[in-house]
Amino acid sequence: MPKNNKNQRSLTRPPVVVILGHVDYGKTTILDFIRKTKVAEKESGGITQHIGAYQIEHQGKKITFIDTPGHEMFSAMRSRGAEIADIAVLVVAAEEGIKPQTKEAIEHTRKAKLPLIVAINKIDKKEAQPEKIKNELSVNKVLVESLGGDIPQVNTSAKTGQGIDELLEIINLVAEMEELKSNEKQSAEGVVIEAHRDDKRGITATLLVKQGTLTNKDVLATSSAWGKIKTMEDFRFKPIQKALPSMPVIVTGFNQAPQMGESFSVFESIEKAQSQVKKKEPIEGKRTVSPDESDKKTLNIILKADVCGCLEALEESLKNIQSDEVALNIIKANIGQVTDSDVKLAETTNSKIIGFRVKIGSSIRRLAQQKKIRIITFDVVYELIQEVRQLLANLLEPEIIINSIGQLKVLALFRTEKDRQIIGGKVIRGKAKQGALIKVIREGKELGQGKVVRLQRDKKETDEVSKDQECGILFKGSTRIEEKDILEFFEEEKRKKEL
Ligand code: GDP
Repeated sequence: MPKNNKNQRSLTRPPVVVILGHVDYGKTTILDFIRKTKVAEKESGGITQHIGAYQIEHQGKKITFIDTPGHEMFSAMRSRGAEIADIAVLVVAAEEGIKPQTKEAIEHTRKAKLPLIVAINKIDKKEAQPEKIKNELSVNKVLVESLGGDIPQVNTSAKTGQGIDELLEIINLVAEMEELKSNEKQSAEGVVIEAHRDDKRGITATLLVKQGTLTNKDVLATSSAWGKIKTMEDFRFKPIQKALPSMPVIVTGFNQAPQMGESFSVFESIEKAQSQVKKKEPIEGKRTVSPDESDKKTLNIILKADVCGCLEALEESLKNIQSDEVALNIIKANIGQVTDSDVKLAETTNSKIIGFRVKIGSSIRRLAQQKKIRIITFDVVYELIQEVRQLLANLLEPEIIINSIGQLKVLALFRTEKDRQIIGGKVIRGKAKQGALIKVIREGKELGQGKVVRLQRDKKETDEVSKDQECGILFKGSTRIEEKDILEFFEEEKRKKEL
Protein backbone atom coordinates (compact mmCIF):
# COMPACT_ATOMS: atom_id res chain seq x y z
CA MET A 1 0.00 0.00 0.00
CA PRO A 2 1.28 3.47 -0.76
CA LYS A 3 2.24 5.54 2.23
CA ASN A 4 -0.65 7.87 2.87
CA ASN A 5 -1.17 10.14 5.76
CA LYS A 6 -4.12 12.07 4.42
CA ASN A 7 -5.00 15.27 6.14
CA GLN A 8 -8.24 17.12 5.49
CA ARG A 9 -6.72 20.50 4.46
CA SER A 10 -7.33 21.06 0.77
CA LEU A 11 -5.91 23.96 -1.17
CA THR A 12 -6.34 25.32 -4.65
CA ARG A 13 -3.70 23.96 -6.99
CA PRO A 14 -2.54 25.35 -10.34
CA PRO A 15 -4.20 23.97 -13.48
CA VAL A 16 -2.35 21.50 -15.70
CA VAL A 17 -2.92 22.46 -19.33
CA VAL A 18 -2.45 20.35 -22.44
CA ILE A 19 -2.33 21.80 -25.96
CA LEU A 20 -3.98 19.73 -28.67
CA GLY A 21 -4.58 20.17 -32.37
CA HIS A 22 -3.49 19.28 -35.87
CA VAL A 23 0.19 19.16 -36.76
CA ASP A 24 1.63 22.50 -37.91
CA TYR A 25 -1.18 24.54 -36.39
CA GLY A 26 1.30 26.10 -33.95
CA LYS A 27 1.14 24.11 -30.71
CA THR A 28 4.91 24.05 -30.22
CA THR A 29 5.28 27.72 -31.16
CA ILE A 30 2.60 28.72 -28.64
CA LEU A 31 4.27 26.64 -25.91
CA ASP A 32 7.66 28.14 -26.78
CA PHE A 33 6.28 31.67 -26.84
CA ILE A 34 4.68 31.26 -23.42
CA ARG A 35 7.82 29.72 -21.95
CA LYS A 36 10.06 32.42 -23.39
CA THR A 37 7.92 35.34 -22.33
CA LYS A 38 6.59 34.12 -19.01
CA VAL A 39 9.52 32.39 -17.38
CA ALA A 40 11.73 35.17 -15.98
CA GLU A 41 14.75 35.70 -18.25
CA LYS A 42 17.40 34.90 -15.64
CA GLU A 43 15.60 31.69 -14.79
CA SER A 44 14.93 30.53 -18.32
CA GLY A 45 18.46 31.36 -19.45
CA GLY A 46 19.70 27.82 -19.27
CA ILE A 47 16.57 26.05 -20.44
CA THR A 48 17.17 24.72 -23.87
CA GLN A 49 16.04 21.25 -23.04
CA HIS A 50 12.35 20.38 -23.07
CA ILE A 51 11.52 18.12 -20.18
CA GLY A 52 7.88 17.54 -21.04
CA ALA A 53 6.31 20.15 -18.78
CA TYR A 54 6.91 23.63 -17.39
CA GLN A 55 5.24 26.07 -15.06
CA ILE A 56 4.66 29.79 -15.47
CA GLU A 57 3.03 32.52 -13.46
CA HIS A 58 0.45 34.84 -14.96
CA GLN A 59 -1.10 37.62 -12.87
CA GLY A 60 0.18 35.96 -9.72
CA LYS A 61 -1.28 32.56 -10.57
CA LYS A 62 0.70 29.51 -11.57
CA ILE A 63 -0.14 27.46 -14.66
CA THR A 64 1.51 24.16 -15.61
CA PHE A 65 1.83 23.31 -19.29
CA ILE A 66 2.40 19.83 -20.63
CA ASP A 67 5.05 20.39 -23.25
CA THR A 68 4.66 17.23 -25.29
CA PRO A 69 2.18 18.27 -27.93
CA GLY A 70 0.61 15.53 -29.95
CA HIS A 71 -2.64 13.99 -28.95
CA GLU A 72 -1.55 10.47 -29.93
CA MET A 73 0.73 10.49 -26.92
CA PHE A 74 -1.91 12.19 -24.85
CA SER A 75 -4.40 9.49 -25.75
CA ALA A 76 -1.87 6.78 -24.95
CA MET A 77 -1.39 8.36 -21.56
CA ARG A 78 -5.10 8.53 -21.01
CA SER A 79 -5.64 4.96 -22.01
CA ARG A 80 -3.49 3.99 -19.02
CA GLY A 81 -5.99 5.69 -16.78
CA ALA A 82 -3.77 8.61 -15.99
CA GLU A 83 -5.68 11.81 -16.09
CA ILE A 84 -2.95 14.31 -16.50
CA ALA A 85 -4.46 17.55 -17.65
CA ASP A 86 -7.20 19.70 -16.13
CA ILE A 87 -7.77 21.93 -19.14
CA ALA A 88 -7.25 21.40 -22.89
CA VAL A 89 -6.46 24.17 -25.34
CA LEU A 90 -7.48 23.23 -28.87
CA VAL A 91 -5.36 25.02 -31.47
CA VAL A 92 -6.84 25.55 -34.93
CA ALA A 93 -4.97 27.46 -37.62
CA ALA A 94 -7.04 30.44 -38.71
CA GLU A 95 -6.22 30.00 -42.38
CA GLU A 96 -6.81 26.26 -42.50
CA GLY A 97 -9.70 24.68 -40.64
CA ILE A 98 -10.98 21.58 -38.97
CA LYS A 99 -8.98 18.48 -39.88
CA PRO A 100 -9.66 14.87 -38.80
CA GLN A 101 -7.13 15.34 -36.01
CA THR A 102 -9.04 18.34 -34.71
CA LYS A 103 -12.14 16.17 -34.50
CA GLU A 104 -10.16 13.49 -32.69
CA ALA A 105 -8.87 16.07 -30.24
CA ILE A 106 -12.43 17.25 -29.60
CA GLU A 107 -13.43 13.61 -28.98
CA HIS A 108 -10.54 13.09 -26.56
CA THR A 109 -11.45 16.10 -24.48
CA ARG A 110 -15.09 15.12 -24.49
CA LYS A 111 -14.31 11.59 -23.31
CA ALA A 112 -11.93 12.89 -20.65
CA LYS A 113 -14.54 15.53 -19.69
CA LEU A 114 -11.83 18.17 -19.94
CA PRO A 115 -12.86 21.80 -20.14
CA LEU A 116 -11.92 23.13 -23.56
CA ILE A 117 -10.57 26.48 -24.69
CA VAL A 118 -10.23 27.18 -28.41
CA ALA A 119 -7.23 29.15 -29.71
CA ILE A 120 -7.63 30.22 -33.32
CA ASN A 121 -3.93 30.65 -34.12
CA LYS A 122 -1.94 32.30 -36.92
CA ILE A 123 -4.37 35.22 -36.76
CA ASP A 124 -1.54 37.43 -38.09
CA LYS A 125 -1.78 35.75 -41.51
CA LYS A 126 -3.70 37.67 -44.15
CA GLU A 127 -5.61 34.53 -45.16
CA ALA A 128 -6.93 34.16 -41.58
CA GLN A 129 -10.66 33.53 -41.42
CA PRO A 130 -11.55 33.10 -37.75
CA GLU A 131 -15.31 33.33 -38.34
CA LYS A 132 -15.18 30.44 -40.80
CA ILE A 133 -13.30 28.35 -38.21
CA LYS A 134 -15.88 29.15 -35.54
CA ASN A 135 -18.64 27.96 -37.85
CA GLU A 136 -16.77 24.77 -38.68
CA LEU A 137 -16.28 24.18 -34.96
CA SER A 138 -19.98 24.64 -34.30
CA VAL A 139 -20.72 21.91 -36.85
CA ASN A 140 -18.54 19.69 -34.66
CA LYS A 141 -20.55 20.61 -31.57
CA VAL A 142 -17.99 23.07 -30.24
CA LEU A 143 -19.99 26.25 -29.88
CA VAL A 144 -17.78 29.17 -28.91
CA GLU A 145 -19.00 32.01 -26.68
CA SER A 146 -19.23 34.61 -29.46
CA LEU A 147 -21.69 32.33 -31.27
CA GLY A 148 -23.78 31.91 -28.14
CA GLY A 149 -22.08 28.79 -26.79
CA ASP A 150 -20.09 28.20 -23.63
CA ILE A 151 -16.63 27.38 -25.00
CA PRO A 152 -14.17 30.25 -24.48
CA GLN A 153 -12.26 31.19 -27.58
CA VAL A 154 -9.36 33.50 -28.32
CA ASN A 155 -7.58 34.56 -31.51
CA THR A 156 -3.84 34.11 -31.11
CA SER A 157 -0.61 34.58 -32.97
CA ALA A 158 2.33 32.65 -31.64
CA LYS A 159 4.43 34.78 -33.98
CA THR A 160 3.48 38.26 -32.72
CA GLY A 161 2.17 37.21 -29.31
CA GLN A 162 -1.29 38.62 -29.99
CA GLY A 163 -3.92 37.03 -27.74
CA ILE A 164 -1.47 34.96 -25.68
CA ASP A 165 -2.06 37.00 -22.50
CA GLU A 166 -5.78 36.70 -23.08
CA LEU A 167 -5.38 32.93 -23.48
CA LEU A 168 -3.57 32.77 -20.14
CA GLU A 169 -6.29 34.87 -18.50
CA ILE A 170 -8.95 32.51 -19.83
CA ILE A 171 -6.97 29.53 -18.53
CA ASN A 172 -6.91 31.17 -15.07
CA LEU A 173 -10.65 31.84 -15.24
CA VAL A 174 -11.51 28.29 -16.31
CA ALA A 175 -9.21 26.94 -13.58
CA GLU A 176 -11.02 29.06 -11.01
CA MET A 177 -14.36 27.69 -12.10
CA GLU A 178 -13.02 24.13 -11.96
CA GLU A 179 -12.06 24.65 -8.29
CA LEU A 180 -9.00 22.43 -8.55
CA LYS A 181 -8.22 21.25 -5.04
CA SER A 182 -5.36 19.30 -3.60
CA ASN A 183 -4.07 18.18 -0.28
CA GLU A 184 -0.46 19.16 0.18
CA LYS A 185 -0.16 17.25 3.43
CA GLN A 186 -0.59 13.78 2.01
CA SER A 187 2.32 11.91 0.46
CA ALA A 188 2.68 12.52 -3.23
CA GLU A 189 0.89 10.87 -6.12
CA GLY A 190 1.30 11.82 -9.74
CA VAL A 191 2.13 10.88 -13.27
CA VAL A 192 5.27 10.16 -15.30
CA ILE A 193 5.54 12.69 -18.14
CA GLU A 194 8.81 11.49 -19.68
CA ALA A 195 11.76 9.30 -18.78
CA HIS A 196 15.06 8.58 -20.44
CA ARG A 197 18.56 7.41 -19.64
CA ASP A 198 20.96 10.28 -19.31
CA ASP A 199 24.57 9.32 -20.00
CA LYS A 200 25.80 11.12 -16.89
CA ARG A 201 22.86 10.95 -14.50
CA GLY A 202 21.29 7.59 -15.25
CA ILE A 203 17.52 7.26 -15.46
CA THR A 204 16.01 10.74 -15.44
CA ALA A 205 12.26 11.14 -15.19
CA THR A 206 9.94 14.13 -15.43
CA LEU A 207 7.12 13.66 -12.95
CA LEU A 208 4.02 15.73 -12.45
CA VAL A 209 2.82 15.84 -8.87
CA LYS A 210 -0.98 15.69 -8.77
CA GLN A 211 -1.61 15.34 -5.05
CA GLY A 212 0.44 15.79 -1.93
CA THR A 213 4.02 16.95 -1.52
CA LEU A 214 6.92 15.07 -3.03
CA THR A 215 10.19 15.39 -1.12
CA ASN A 216 13.67 14.76 -2.41
CA LYS A 217 14.07 11.74 -0.12
CA ASP A 218 10.91 9.86 -1.11
CA VAL A 219 10.76 6.26 -2.31
CA LEU A 220 8.57 5.89 -5.39
CA ALA A 221 7.10 3.24 -7.63
CA THR A 222 5.08 3.07 -10.81
CA SER A 223 3.78 -0.23 -12.15
CA SER A 224 7.01 -0.76 -14.09
CA ALA A 225 9.82 0.91 -12.09
CA TRP A 226 10.78 1.83 -8.53
CA GLY A 227 13.42 4.04 -6.99
CA LYS A 228 14.61 6.21 -4.14
CA ILE A 229 14.96 9.79 -5.27
CA LYS A 230 18.62 10.76 -5.59
CA THR A 231 18.18 14.26 -6.99
CA MET A 232 15.09 16.38 -7.51
CA GLU A 233 14.97 19.57 -9.57
CA ASP A 234 12.30 21.92 -10.79
CA PHE A 235 11.73 22.34 -14.55
CA ARG A 236 14.57 24.89 -14.64
CA PHE A 237 16.97 22.23 -13.31
CA LYS A 238 17.21 24.03 -9.95
CA PRO A 239 17.57 21.56 -7.03
CA ILE A 240 14.50 21.55 -4.79
CA GLN A 241 13.53 19.74 -1.63
CA LYS A 242 9.78 19.73 -2.06
CA ALA A 243 7.36 19.68 -4.96
CA LEU A 244 3.75 20.75 -4.50
CA PRO A 245 0.67 19.67 -6.51
CA SER A 246 0.74 20.47 -10.26
CA MET A 247 4.49 20.97 -10.19
CA PRO A 248 6.66 19.24 -12.78
CA VAL A 249 9.95 17.92 -11.41
CA ILE A 250 12.94 16.07 -12.74
CA VAL A 251 14.07 13.19 -10.55
CA THR A 252 16.86 10.65 -10.76
CA GLY A 253 17.06 7.37 -8.87
CA PHE A 254 14.65 5.02 -10.70
CA ASN A 255 15.95 1.48 -11.29
CA GLN A 256 14.77 1.68 -14.89
CA ALA A 257 12.86 4.10 -17.09
CA PRO A 258 9.19 4.16 -16.04
CA GLN A 259 6.65 4.31 -18.86
CA MET A 260 5.24 7.69 -19.77
CA GLY A 261 1.71 8.14 -18.53
CA GLU A 262 2.10 5.73 -15.60
CA SER A 263 0.96 6.86 -12.18
CA PHE A 264 3.44 6.94 -9.33
CA SER A 265 2.97 6.76 -5.57
CA VAL A 266 5.23 7.18 -2.58
CA PHE A 267 6.03 4.18 -0.36
CA GLU A 268 7.39 3.75 3.15
CA SER A 269 10.22 1.49 2.14
CA ILE A 270 12.13 0.27 -0.88
CA GLU A 271 10.77 -3.26 -0.29
CA LYS A 272 7.20 -2.02 -0.47
CA ALA A 273 7.95 0.01 -3.59
CA GLN A 274 9.60 -3.02 -5.23
CA SER A 275 6.63 -5.26 -4.50
CA GLN A 276 4.40 -2.74 -6.28
CA VAL A 277 6.25 -3.19 -9.58
CA LYS A 278 4.35 -5.71 -11.63
CA LYS A 279 6.22 -8.59 -13.14
CA LYS A 280 6.22 -7.57 -16.76
CA GLU A 281 5.95 -9.95 -19.66
CA PRO A 282 9.12 -9.97 -21.68
CA ILE A 283 8.76 -7.45 -24.48
CA GLU A 284 10.48 -9.66 -27.07
CA GLY A 285 8.49 -12.08 -29.15
CA LYS A 286 5.78 -11.90 -31.72
CA ARG A 287 2.81 -9.84 -30.78
CA THR A 288 0.08 -9.32 -33.25
CA VAL A 289 -1.98 -6.21 -32.91
CA SER A 290 -4.83 -7.74 -34.86
CA PRO A 291 -4.43 -11.47 -34.25
CA ASP A 292 -7.58 -12.81 -35.81
CA GLU A 293 -7.41 -10.90 -39.03
CA SER A 294 -5.37 -13.30 -41.11
CA ASP A 295 -7.25 -12.56 -44.32
CA LYS A 296 -6.24 -8.91 -44.24
CA LYS A 297 -3.15 -7.55 -45.94
CA THR A 298 -0.62 -6.89 -43.20
CA LEU A 299 2.21 -4.49 -42.61
CA ASN A 300 4.94 -6.09 -40.50
CA ILE A 301 7.06 -3.78 -38.43
CA ILE A 302 9.86 -4.03 -35.92
CA LEU A 303 9.60 -1.15 -33.48
CA LYS A 304 12.67 0.21 -31.72
CA ALA A 305 12.75 3.09 -29.25
CA ASP A 306 15.38 4.70 -27.08
CA VAL A 307 15.15 4.26 -23.33
CA CYS A 308 12.63 7.03 -22.89
CA GLY A 309 9.93 4.70 -21.72
CA CYS A 310 7.55 5.53 -24.51
CA LEU A 311 7.53 2.20 -26.30
CA GLU A 312 4.23 1.11 -24.79
CA ALA A 313 2.69 4.47 -25.54
CA LEU A 314 3.81 4.17 -29.16
CA GLU A 315 2.34 0.69 -29.44
CA GLU A 316 -0.85 1.94 -27.88
CA SER A 317 -1.10 4.72 -30.46
CA LEU A 318 -0.32 2.36 -33.31
CA LYS A 319 -3.11 0.03 -32.17
CA ASN A 320 -5.50 2.92 -32.64
CA ILE A 321 -4.89 2.83 -36.40
CA GLN A 322 -7.66 0.53 -37.48
CA SER A 323 -8.95 -0.60 -40.82
CA ASP A 324 -11.23 -3.35 -42.12
CA GLU A 325 -8.86 -4.09 -44.98
CA VAL A 326 -5.33 -3.94 -43.60
CA ALA A 327 -3.69 -4.90 -40.33
CA LEU A 328 -0.57 -3.87 -38.51
CA ASN A 329 1.59 -6.66 -37.17
CA ILE A 330 4.26 -5.66 -34.66
CA ILE A 331 6.74 -8.51 -34.99
CA LYS A 332 8.95 -7.18 -32.23
CA ALA A 333 9.09 -4.06 -30.09
CA ASN A 334 11.94 -3.27 -27.80
CA ILE A 335 14.17 -0.63 -26.40
CA GLY A 336 17.66 -0.02 -27.75
CA GLN A 337 19.55 0.60 -30.97
CA VAL A 338 18.80 -1.29 -34.19
CA THR A 339 20.98 -4.42 -34.25
CA ASP A 340 22.11 -6.98 -36.85
CA SER A 341 19.55 -9.43 -35.56
CA ASP A 342 16.76 -6.85 -36.04
CA VAL A 343 17.77 -6.52 -39.70
CA LYS A 344 17.88 -10.30 -40.10
CA LEU A 345 14.50 -10.68 -38.42
CA ALA A 346 13.14 -7.98 -40.74
CA GLU A 347 14.43 -9.97 -43.70
CA THR A 348 12.84 -13.26 -42.66
CA THR A 349 9.54 -11.66 -41.66
CA ASN A 350 9.39 -9.10 -44.48
CA SER A 351 9.19 -6.24 -42.00
CA LYS A 352 10.09 -2.61 -41.97
CA ILE A 353 12.11 -1.29 -39.06
CA ILE A 354 10.66 1.78 -37.40
CA GLY A 355 12.88 3.59 -34.91
CA PHE A 356 11.95 6.27 -32.42
CA ARG A 357 14.84 8.47 -31.33
CA VAL A 358 17.35 5.74 -32.15
CA LYS A 359 20.55 6.21 -34.12
CA ILE A 360 21.51 3.85 -36.92
CA GLY A 361 25.17 2.88 -37.12
CA SER A 362 26.77 2.86 -40.57
CA SER A 363 27.37 -0.90 -40.56
CA ILE A 364 23.69 -1.53 -39.79
CA ARG A 365 22.69 0.88 -42.54
CA ARG A 366 24.91 -0.99 -45.00
CA LEU A 367 23.50 -4.36 -43.95
CA ALA A 368 19.96 -3.04 -44.32
CA GLN A 369 20.76 -1.67 -47.77
CA GLN A 370 22.23 -5.01 -48.82
CA LYS A 371 19.17 -6.89 -47.65
CA LYS A 372 16.81 -4.19 -48.97
CA ILE A 373 15.31 -3.58 -45.54
CA ARG A 374 13.80 -0.17 -44.96
CA ILE A 375 14.73 1.50 -41.69
CA ILE A 376 12.85 4.69 -40.91
CA THR A 377 13.60 6.75 -37.83
CA PHE A 378 11.68 9.55 -36.16
CA ASP A 379 12.09 12.04 -33.36
CA VAL A 380 8.46 13.10 -33.27
CA VAL A 381 5.73 10.65 -32.27
CA TYR A 382 3.15 12.20 -34.54
CA GLU A 383 5.39 11.76 -37.58
CA LEU A 384 6.05 8.13 -36.74
CA ILE A 385 2.33 7.40 -36.41
CA GLN A 386 1.58 9.25 -39.66
CA GLU A 387 4.24 7.29 -41.55
CA VAL A 388 2.91 3.94 -40.30
CA ARG A 389 -0.58 5.10 -41.23
CA GLN A 390 0.69 5.97 -44.72
CA LEU A 391 2.51 2.63 -45.11
CA LEU A 392 -0.71 0.85 -44.18
CA ALA A 393 -2.75 3.03 -46.54
CA ASN A 394 -0.38 2.06 -49.36
CA LEU A 395 -1.58 -1.53 -48.94
CA LEU A 396 -5.21 -0.62 -49.51
CA GLU A 397 -6.78 -1.49 -52.86
CA PRO A 398 -7.49 1.73 -54.73
CA GLU A 399 -11.05 2.92 -54.81
CA ILE A 400 -12.60 2.93 -58.29
CA ILE A 401 -14.58 6.06 -58.97
CA ILE A 402 -16.93 6.05 -61.97
CA ASN A 403 -17.22 9.39 -63.72
CA SER A 404 -20.09 9.61 -66.21
CA ILE A 405 -19.18 11.63 -69.32
CA GLY A 406 -22.34 11.60 -71.42
CA GLN A 407 -25.12 9.61 -73.12
CA LEU A 408 -26.03 8.74 -76.69
CA LYS A 409 -29.25 7.44 -78.20
CA VAL A 410 -28.71 4.66 -80.78
CA LEU A 411 -30.43 5.54 -84.09
CA ALA A 412 -28.98 2.96 -86.51
CA LEU A 413 -27.02 -0.32 -86.56
CA PHE A 414 -24.52 -0.52 -89.47
CA ARG A 415 -22.68 -3.72 -88.85
CA THR A 416 -22.68 -6.51 -86.23
CA GLU A 417 -19.78 -8.88 -85.79
CA LYS A 418 -18.72 -11.15 -82.98
CA ASP A 419 -17.81 -8.81 -80.07
CA ARG A 420 -18.01 -5.73 -82.31
CA GLN A 421 -20.73 -3.48 -83.64
CA ILE A 422 -20.78 -0.30 -85.66
CA ILE A 423 -23.65 1.92 -84.65
CA GLY A 424 -24.84 5.45 -85.32
CA GLY A 425 -26.53 7.75 -82.82
CA LYS A 426 -27.01 11.20 -81.34
CA VAL A 427 -25.34 12.51 -78.19
CA ILE A 428 -28.14 13.51 -75.80
CA ARG A 429 -26.08 14.53 -72.74
CA GLY A 430 -22.44 15.50 -72.15
CA LYS A 431 -20.21 14.06 -74.81
CA ALA A 432 -19.04 10.87 -76.50
CA LYS A 433 -15.32 10.23 -76.16
CA GLN A 434 -12.80 8.02 -77.91
CA GLY A 435 -11.60 5.23 -75.60
CA ALA A 436 -14.41 5.77 -73.05
CA LEU A 437 -16.12 2.82 -71.39
CA ILE A 438 -19.79 2.23 -72.26
CA LYS A 439 -22.82 0.98 -70.35
CA VAL A 440 -25.56 -0.33 -72.64
CA ILE A 441 -28.95 0.70 -71.21
CA ARG A 442 -32.30 -0.57 -72.45
CA GLU A 443 -35.55 0.57 -70.86
CA GLY A 444 -33.64 1.93 -67.88
CA LYS A 445 -31.73 -1.29 -67.21
CA GLU A 446 -28.03 -1.86 -67.71
CA LEU A 447 -27.47 -4.87 -70.00
CA GLY A 448 -23.70 -4.93 -70.15
CA GLN A 449 -20.56 -2.95 -70.76
CA GLY A 450 -18.09 -2.31 -73.57
CA LYS A 451 -15.76 0.30 -74.97
CA VAL A 452 -15.54 2.99 -77.70
CA VAL A 453 -12.85 1.65 -80.05
CA ARG A 454 -13.37 4.27 -82.76
CA LEU A 455 -15.40 7.43 -82.90
CA GLN A 456 -16.39 9.13 -86.19
CA ARG A 457 -18.16 12.32 -87.07
CA ASP A 458 -18.94 13.12 -90.68
CA LYS A 459 -16.97 10.00 -91.61
CA LYS A 460 -13.83 11.40 -90.01
CA GLU A 461 -12.20 10.02 -86.88
CA THR A 462 -12.49 12.32 -83.89
CA ASP A 463 -11.72 12.29 -80.17
CA GLU A 464 -14.92 13.81 -78.90
CA VAL A 465 -18.45 14.50 -80.08
CA SER A 466 -20.63 16.93 -78.16
CA LYS A 467 -24.30 17.13 -77.23
CA ASP A 468 -26.89 17.19 -80.04
CA GLN A 469 -24.37 15.97 -82.62
CA GLU A 470 -24.58 12.68 -84.48
CA CYS A 471 -21.70 10.21 -84.72
CA GLY A 472 -20.64 6.66 -85.57
CA ILE A 473 -19.09 4.36 -82.99
CA LEU A 474 -17.13 1.14 -83.27
CA PHE A 475 -18.25 -0.61 -80.10
CA LYS A 476 -16.36 -3.51 -78.56
CA GLY A 477 -18.25 -5.70 -76.12
CA SER A 478 -20.35 -8.85 -75.97
CA THR A 479 -23.67 -7.08 -75.41
CA ARG A 480 -25.86 -6.78 -78.53
CA ILE A 481 -26.88 -3.20 -79.05
CA GLU A 482 -30.29 -2.45 -80.57
CA GLU A 483 -31.85 0.71 -81.96
CA LYS A 484 -33.18 3.11 -79.29
CA ASP A 485 -30.73 1.77 -76.68
CA ILE A 486 -28.97 4.38 -74.60
CA LEU A 487 -25.17 4.20 -74.42
CA GLU A 488 -23.69 5.82 -71.35
CA PHE A 489 -20.03 6.86 -71.64
CA PHE A 490 -17.92 6.75 -68.52
CA GLU A 491 -14.35 6.71 -67.26
CA GLU A 492 -12.92 4.91 -64.26
CA GLU A 493 -10.65 6.76 -61.90
CA LYS A 494 -8.49 4.92 -59.39
CA ARG A 495 -8.25 6.85 -56.18
CA LYS A 496 -5.85 6.04 -53.35
CA LYS A 497 -7.73 5.27 -50.17
CA GLU A 498 -6.76 6.83 -46.88
CA LEU A 499 -6.95 5.33 -43.44
P1 GDP B 1 2.72 22.19 -34.25
O1 GDP B 1 2.97 21.04 -35.17
O2 GDP B 1 1.25 22.39 -34.01
O3 GDP B 1 3.51 22.14 -32.98
O4 GDP B 1 3.14 23.51 -35.06
P2 GDP B 1 4.43 24.41 -34.92
O5 GDP B 1 4.41 25.18 -33.65
O6 GDP B 1 5.63 23.57 -35.21
O7 GDP B 1 4.17 25.46 -36.10
C1 GDP B 1 4.14 25.09 -37.46
C2 GDP B 1 4.57 26.25 -38.32
O8 GDP B 1 3.67 27.33 -38.20
C3 GDP B 1 5.95 26.79 -37.95
O9 GDP B 1 6.62 27.11 -39.12
C4 GDP B 1 5.63 28.03 -37.15
O10 GDP B 1 6.64 29.01 -37.25
C5 GDP B 1 4.34 28.52 -37.81
N1 GDP B 1 3.47 29.24 -36.86
C6 GDP B 1 3.06 28.81 -35.65
N2 GDP B 1 2.25 29.72 -35.08
C7 GDP B 1 2.17 30.76 -35.95
C8 GDP B 1 1.45 32.02 -35.94
O11 GDP B 1 0.72 32.38 -35.01
N3 GDP B 1 1.58 32.79 -37.05
C9 GDP B 1 2.34 32.45 -38.12
N4 GDP B 1 2.41 33.27 -39.15
N5 GDP B 1 3.03 31.28 -38.16
C10 GDP B 1 2.94 30.45 -37.09
